[in-house]
This record gives sequence, C-alpha cells and structure tokens, in this order.
Amino acid sequence: MDLPIATSKSAHPPLSPDLIARLAAIVGDKYAVTDADERAPYLTEARNLFHGRSPLVLRPASTAEVSAICRIASEHRIALVPQGGNTGLVGGQTPHNGEVVVSMRRMDRIREVDIASNTMTVEAGAILQTIQRRADEAGRFFPLSLGAEGSCTIGGNLSTNAGGTGALAYGVARDMALGLEVVLADGRTLNGLSKLKKDNTGYDLRNLFIGAEGTLGIITAAVVKLFPKPRSVQTAFVGLRSPADALRLLAISQAEAAGSLTSFELLADICVDICVRHGSGIRDPLTRRYPWYVLMEVSSSRDDATATVETILERGIKSGCIDDAAIAASLQQRAAFWKLRETIPPAQKREGGSIKHDISVPVAAIPAFITEANAAVVKLIPDARPVPFGHLGDGNIHYNVSQPVSGMTTQEFLARWQEVNAVVFAIALRMGGSISAEHGIGVLKRDNLPGVKDKTAIEVMRGIKALFDPLGIMNPGKVL
Ligand code: FAD
Repeated sequence: MDLPIATSKSAHPPLSPDLIARLAAIVGDKYAVTDADERAPYLTEARNLFHGRSPLVLRPASTAEVSAICRIASEHRIALVPQGGNTGLVGGQTPHNGEVVVSMRRMDRIREVDIASNTMTVEAGAILQTIQRRADEAGRFFPLSLGAEGSCTIGGNLSTNAGGTGALAYGVARDMALGLEVVLADGRTLNGLSKLKKDNTGYDLRNLFIGAEGTLGIITAAVVKLFPKPRSVQTAFVGLRSPADALRLLAISQAEAAGSLTSFELLADICVDICVRHGSGIRDPLTRRYPWYVLMEVSSSRDDATATVETILERGIKSGCIDDAAIAASLQQRAAFWKLRETIPPAQKREGGSIKHDISVPVAAIPAFITEANAAVVKLIPDARPVPFGHLGDGNIHYNVSQPVSGMTTQEFLARWQEVNAVVFAIALRMGGSISAEHGIGVLKRDNLPGVKDKTAIEVMRGIKALFDPLGIMNPGKVL
C-alpha cells in the first residue's frame, strides 16, 4: 500500500511520442524502456511503500548520453528522476508524477584505482559492494557499508550522503568523496573528478551535490578515498540492561580503542526476538535474553583487535554495565552477528506495518530520547511496539514502531504515520536532534522540513535549487 504522504502535482507537460523517440535515440531503443512489465521494477521500491508512474525509463551508458538527455529535457521542460539501485527509503528515486526515470545502473565502470593516491575513480552506477571488493583486491579498504550494499550504487550513496555501520570511525559518504563529475540540468558537465585532498580554489561545489538527492544534477562519476586495510578485526555481541549502560560501554570502548572502534550498534530485545523468529538460520547470540544489546566492532591497523575487545568487555563487566557478551570466534560467527543486525528491517516487515524514523540526537541524549519516545508512542497508540535500533555511536537511532499484535489493521496503523512522526520528531528536535540522520528527505519528510529547518537555510536552499535548476526539472517535488 502507498503511504499517506502527499506527492505534489507535476507542472511539466506529458511526453509526446516524438520526444520519447528523441530521448530513446540517445541511449538506443534497447535501453529506453517503455514496456509496462520492464518499467515496473523502476516504479516501486523494495518495501513496496511508494508506487510511481513514468512513460519512459532511460538507461544511459556514458556521461555524454546523460548530458544529451538533460539538454533535451531542459529544452522541453521534461522532468527527470535520477535513479541508482532504487534502495532509498524516502521515495526520492520514485517518479511520482510521470517523470522520466534516468537509471544510472549501466554506468558501472571502475575507471581507475590509484594505489599511490589511495583513490578509486568510479562511475555513479557502480554497486557499493563491487567498490568494496575492488578496494580489497587492491590491498585497500572502502569503509562505506550498509544493509543495501549488494544493490545500492555509489551515485545513490553520495546523493543521499549515506551513513551506515562504519560512520563512527570513517565518517559518512561525504567524508569519503574527493571529487565528482556531475551533469547539470541544462546538460553542461561539471568536471570535478579531482583526487586532491587540498584544493582551496573557491566555493565547494562538490558538497552541494552530495546529499542533494538528485535535485541539483545527475552525478555520473566520483573519486572516492581508499583506506588502509585493517590488520585485525574483532566483533562482540553484548547483552545489557539499558541504553544508559550502552552509553557507558561506548565511553569505555572509545577510551580503549579510540579511532579503531568502527561500529557500535544498539538493538532493543524485540529486534533479536523478531530476527530469531523470522530470519532464516538466525540464532540468539547469547544463552539468555537481555533487554538491550550492543553489536560492537574494533578494526585495528595492528594485530590487537581481539585483545582490545577483551579489555573493553572486562572493563564493562567490572563497571557493571555489561551482563553478558560473546566474542566472535570465527569469521562465520562475525558474519552471523552482522546478519542478525541486517535482518531487523525484513524481520520487522513480517510483523506487519512499521512507522519508521531515522532520527539523530546528541549521543548523550539517546537514553532519554528512547524513554520519552516509547512513552509518547504508546500513549498515542496503546500496544504499538517500538523497535529502536541503530548507530548509537553516531547518535542515530532508527526508531521504528511496529503495529500492535492485534486490534488494528496495517492500513489503520499506517494511517497514523504522520501523527506518530509528529510526536517522535518533536522529542528529537527538543533534544537538539534531526528528523533525518541518514536516509534523506525525499517525499517522505518533505512536508516536515519547513517546520524543522532554519527559515534562512530553507531560503538559501531554494536559491541554490533555482540557480542549478531554474526550470525545476531535476527530481521535482523532492526535498523542497
Ligand atoms: P536510489 O534509491 O536509486 O536513489 C536515492 C536518491 O538518490 C534519490 O533521490 C535519487 O534520485 C538520487 N540518486 C540516485 N543516483 C543518483 C545519481 N547518480 N545522481 C543524482 N542523484 C541520484 N542508508 C544509510 O544511510 N545507512 C544505512 O545503514 C542504510 N541501510 C539500508 C538498509 C537497507 C536494507 C536499505 C534498503 C536501505 C538502506 N539505506 C541506508 C538507505 C540508503 O539511502 C540507500 O540504500 C542508498 O544510499 C541509496 O543508493 P541507491 O543507489 O539505491 O539510490
């Protein structure tokens, strides 16, 4: 079912057969998708929450083809929706009003790996996992990592400024990009494929496109940073009593491991419960259940990751903030811990409707945020089931709420989406937080933005949009 979210009406004229033919000629008929069955996968996303419509999906193979598409689109005011792996969670990649989809998946070449500069030059449609593998083969490490890494693209990662599980140590997608090649709405190409760490020659244009969700231009290629491969990695699954204890363990871990603490994920008990029930082959990592869990990982440039994790756990037990813990005894066990973490969203889907939030607050405010949000949500919908999990080390919680086990249909529950959002967002904002930590705005949170963002910031954002895309053809109705 579609979410109860308003999508704006398009101000752009419908496509004539002549224009469809001209656009198709750019990519070749085989890569201009007009058949309804072939178009379908581009019009909805994995969770089946947003359904779009579009007469045409274009699959360009080069920057020159993207540029030619934008030139015609600009001449005829044809609205375009850039799309990568179609894994975005806020409806940004969906053509809600008959826009033409520009799928970047064919542009997937790794143009260069430069070991000496520690950079990789990749086309926007390259799959994140392929980039990770190529870095590994070159004896380097690309640390961006998220549940959708087998299907999301680097262009989508940069356009949403994705975070993921390594952000604690390595930063978000923005921190991993050195240069970008972008095709602007009028078809001009902004060639910024620089490998430079230092380049103070004026305004930082690259950073405008990162996190712009395809509203300012189409990213066609990027130079990303590569990092040294960790010599040792160790992972632990920890049982504890409260988010406050998890916060104490975070402080101990950071004191012991400093920059080599690469992940620190918090999971409520219900997360483990639904993963064990619905996930294939998922087992409880500890011998009994605890109210909360932490999945932590240390990645070291020396051979000391296991020793560091053991010291952290000893200190945690001594200080009383850990009840139980398991250290991964093998690569398989490490993979099993992470599989559990990544199974939470699909397992939650099996539990019926889920009202989702991707909030951030200052790290120290996480325990208070969870307590207050749980109370507010249950007051609004008795028996609703909060499923908080996420990147505690980054102050980022995916505060999802599953529908009550009985007494409410999925449709009735999801109809309360905005109401639940409102109370959860209000708590996050009061604590100095954000309504979108890593997934972006898209259409899902577009109407919330003016209420939560500084008025001047919104005006400046509108000015930037008007400058880059005066006709409003780049992903209209998203973000602003
Ligand atoms: P799409 O979904 O295709 O597009 C996303 C947005 O980027 C759209 O607005 C689109 O118009 C724009 N876009 C795409 N490509 C381009 C381009 N070349 N130029 C300009 N604009 C473009 N996100 C996190 O941050 N952290 C997580 O831990 C995380 N975990 C996830 C787990 C799962 C199971 C799933 C399904 C998603 C998760 N996400 C997470 C969401 C995340 O934003 C996306 O997975 C990913 O970054 C989007 O990449 P994509 O190629 O699929 O982009």
